[in-house]
Amino acid sequence: MRTRPFAVISCDLDTVDRHLQGYGIEDLPPCDVIYRTAVPRLLELLSECGLPCVFFTIARDAHDQRTLLREMVAAGHEIASHSMTHPQPFSSLAENALNLEVAGSKAALSEASGSEIAGFRAPAWDINDRVLKQIAGAGYSYDASVFPTPALIASRLSAYHRSEGMGSIFSMDLFAHAFSKRTPYKLTGAGSGLTEFPVAVTRWLRFPTYHTLAYLTPKPVFMRALRSVLKRNEPLGYELHAADLLALSDEGVDQRMDRHPGMKLPLEDKTALLREIFTQIAAARDATTYRAAVDRAA
Ligand SMILES: [Zn+2]
Repeated sequence: MRTRPFAVISCDLDTVDRHLQGYGIEDLPPCDVIYRTAVPRLLELLSECGLPCVFFTIARDAHDQRTLLREMVAAGHEIASHSMTHPQPFSSLAENALNLEVAGSKAALSEASGSEIAGFRAPAWDINDRVLKQIAGAGYSYDASVFPTPALIASRLSAYHRSEGMGSIFSMDLFAHAFSKRTPYKLTGAGSGLTEFPVAVTRWLRFPTYHTLAYLTPKPVFMRALRSVLKRNEPLGYELHAADLLALSDEGVDQRMDRHPGMKLPLEDKTALLREIFTQIAAARDATTYRAAVDRAA
């Protein structure tokens, strides 16, 4: 009998050009370095720790990466959508562009991976009722774009400050998100029928167990937050990015990625940190995928 709550590890496959676009460096050609370096490293580490992972994939790359995507599915991982082209801001896109990003990415990823695509995560967690309606309408069964912490407000403000001519950051209801429910729930209203899987945060301070923060806070603080989330009898969603296992010295990495959290750390240190986190999660929880969690609830 299952007595432990589940944990889901998820990894956003943001490419280097998309990360740099988030820093206001536009018009870069698609870069495939994460697929050649970071993703294989992550797959090896997941296999070592016996963990499945949900890979939120930018569908622009689906066709070129179909062999890799199919290997991931065969290894027990889930492919989900992280939009077609990862445009930012996302929730203020025109209706037809939004439809291509949401419904178009589902079709492209399904074809390339040979698997059903059940989940969506918006670029920079930028969702509102319009986006949720599109996600439900496209036939997804879950969304994983809610980041229920005031840290989201800080992150959106900093994105706003470093970009030129970005639309309003308040096209999404930042404050409603920041203080919304911390555990998975069924959506009603816009997005009705979808299950929402928020990124895990601690109970009172809402400190997120989001891997980028492991680079921005002292390790003991981060590990204490992770332990406190793991101690609670609640599901855990742990989110990272492929770039977390990228090295600046990897062939083909645009050196402007040096501004990204963790990029200046030695790869061995980053791998060791992630191994420690994965080991703690695997020891405390039944690891699964979001799609399996939705199926189990139904
Ligand atoms: Zn992203």
